[in-house]
Amino acid sequence: MMFQKPISRRAFLRAAGAAGFGAFVASSTRAWALDAVDNPLAHYPDRDWERTYRDLWKVDSTFTFLCAPNDTHNCILKAHVRQGVITRIGPSMGYGKAKDLHGMGATHRWDPRVCQKGLALTRRFYGDRRIRHCMLRSGFKKWVDAGFPRGADGKPPVEYFDRGRDTWVRVTHEEAAEAVAATLENVATTYSGEKGQALLRAQGYDEEVVQATRGAGTQVMKFRGGMPLLGMTRVFGLYRMANSMALLDAGIRGVGPDKALGGRGFDNYSWHTDLPPGHPMVTGQQTVDFDLSAVEHARTVVVWGMNWITTKMPDAHWLTEARLKGTHIVVIACEYSSTTSKADEAIVVRPGTTPALALGLCHVLMRDGLYDP
Ligand code: SF4
Repeated sequence: MMFQKPISRRAFLRAAGAAGFGAFVASSTRAWALDAVDNPLAHYPDRDWERTYRDLWKVDSTFTFLCAPNDTHNCILKAHVRQGVITRIGPSMGYGKAKDLHGMGATHRWDPRVCQKGLALTRRFYGDRRIRHCMLRSGFKKWVDAGFPRGADGKPPVEYFDRGRDTWVRVTHEEAAEAVAATLENVATTYSGEKGQALLRAQGYDEEVVQATRGAGTQVMKFRGGMPLLGMTRVFGLYRMANSMALLDAGIRGVGPDKALGGRGFDNYSWHTDLPPGHPMVTGQQTVDFDLSAVEHARTVVVWGMNWITTKMPDAHWLTEARLKGTHIVVIACEYSSTTSKADEAIVVRPGTTPALALGLCHVLMRDGLYDP
């Protein structure tokens, strides 16, 4: 492409002043070769650069997977793969095609089901903080390697259990599996029978607890996955593992299937109280009583103890759509809650006062007969 001689600043100003603005534009257009171009794309000499942008989105394959962190939404997502690397993640857009055992279809309104964290998962897959191999706590490994030494009361010496300060040792999957299997067998053997129950008494356990084991060492094992493991195995994987300990008990005590006992599955309510223990105690139900998509059938929804908009990301739309359909939304919150912005009525309470508010509501409902008997 030929360029005309560049115009100097002085000549530019002289031309602009002498000939007026029209002449100035005409002269500068000539000087900088800015002749009008009807179709810039056709005019450009080389359009290869466009391929760069098109290629950014090119993939070799896709696959569908379940996003299963502890948030319990379990979105079915689609991963896009290029040269063996997941380059992006998006919603699967397949919920509307799902059918139940009776052939009933789900609504497309479940789509697009995903949140910002699901979209950004690739950063965790390939993040430098991801652990890609098995690790054993070094003190625990020494205890296993030393053949499970125990004191007179059955407890292992404390020097092997420096949790929180100990270092970690990288091991193979086979070594990790062997250490876990040997430990489970050792614990079950140690606490089985009369001898095992005597050790539990020596450690100060109540007689009811000791009797509850019914002589099976597997009964002192408590299973509950940590959050990452819950994500991988879903909530029930570790409970199945607990049940399967009955096979170990059968081997150790030589009992049949009618007497073999598994380990104990500690649930989220009673063990680490991630979920409210009072809920199943009072209602007999866990907090899984209804699907959030059902709220649009309610005349009034009280959102209490939950920041729906912030923490139920892919289900947030059910609340806002219910409101569009006329559902009256009441939000009770003590903190800054974005759900309050969707409320017809917002009740701001002080932290710790909600039990009093709940009991007061119950009192008025019962006193004034405001319920459907
Ligand atoms: S809400 Fe987000 S993090 Fe949770 S399961 Fe769905 S995509 Fe994954």
